[in-house]
Amino acid sequence: LTQLFRPLDMLGMVYRTIRQGLIDMAEMFRLLDTEVEVPDAPGAPALIVRQPSIVFDDVVFGYDKDRTILQGLSFEVPAGQAFAIVGPSGAGKSTIARLLFRFYDPLSGRILIDGQDIRNVTQASLRKAIGIVPQDSVLFNDTIGYNIGYGREGAGADEIIAAAQGAALTGLIARLPQGFDTEVGERGLKLSGGEKQRVAIARTLVKNPPILILDEATSALDTRTEQDILATLHRVAEHRTSLTIAHRLSTIADADRILVLNEGRLAESGRHAELLRRDGLYAEMWARQAAEAEEIGEAAQ
Ligand code: ADP
Ligand code: MG
Repeated sequence: LTQLFRPLDMLGMVYRTIRQGLIDMAEMFRLLDTEVEVPDAPGAPALIVRQPSIVFDDVVFGYDKDRTILQGLSFEVPAGQAFAIVGPSGAGKSTIARLLFRFYDPLSGRILIDGQDIRNVTQASLRKAIGIVPQDSVLFNDTIGYNIGYGREGAGADEIIAAAQGAALTGLIARLPQGFDTEVGERGLKLSGGEKQRVAIARTLVKNPPILILDEATSALDTRTEQDILATLHRVAEHRTSLTIAHRLSTIADADRILVLNEGRLAESGRHAELLRRDGLYAEMWARQAAEAEEIGEAAQ
């Protein structure tokens, strides 16, 4: 029964938010995506990030009590390292990102950032520490400058320009009739998928988070655009702790460590070459994708 009422509750919450004049698209999507509002612990301090390590300690999680998605997952990403998460669709990869953002709490186990249990710190401070680039970034019907500056309240023009440079958007913006003041989105300029992702990257640069999560950030792009954007993302991930969730394994072969998730468990982990030698799930996925790439290549000839 509670299942039935949840969507109605959500609509109520969204409606109240709109009524209060606080509407903000990202917030609305978050509300629509999130069934349970996780409250801050009373008197919770802010997360303090000095060494942005991430720890999943025996995390069990399910969206519904009768179906667990993560089955006691443990891993540690040391500060400053670039880890990748791969695995079949539905394995629970995006769930890991949602838990880090604390859209949900684990049923058991702990998630730590820089040694602090994320349940014990304010969500505002937690979300400030993590930047996420999803597969399909949402742009607002507003100027390109607004869309970049949205990464952090109060961002100055100089920061927006620097972020655009970091995301390799300067060429595009120079060609636009009104530069940063050009309207984008449905009622303005239509950006390509790759350009939209660059705006999302620039937004993340403005936010400047110590932790970066890329959830299939380039999966929707064609291979050439993907290669271009991967180069940019590599630069952005430098000096940060990053978790890259990837579909195409070729894009994460140089990760410091690859976590192979299967049915909510860590099936194997290691560097690319180690995992190939292991001849397990990763090697199998690699071989399958290589064969697919070859087929596509042949078809194109
Ligand atoms: P992926 O590895 O493809 O990113 P996800 O983490 O998104 O997988 O999802 C893992 C499992 O959890 C899937 O079976 C999915 O159907 C289920 N799931 C995802 N989001 C929800 C939700 N909001 N409510 C219920 N089940 C969900
Ligand atoms: Mg996913």
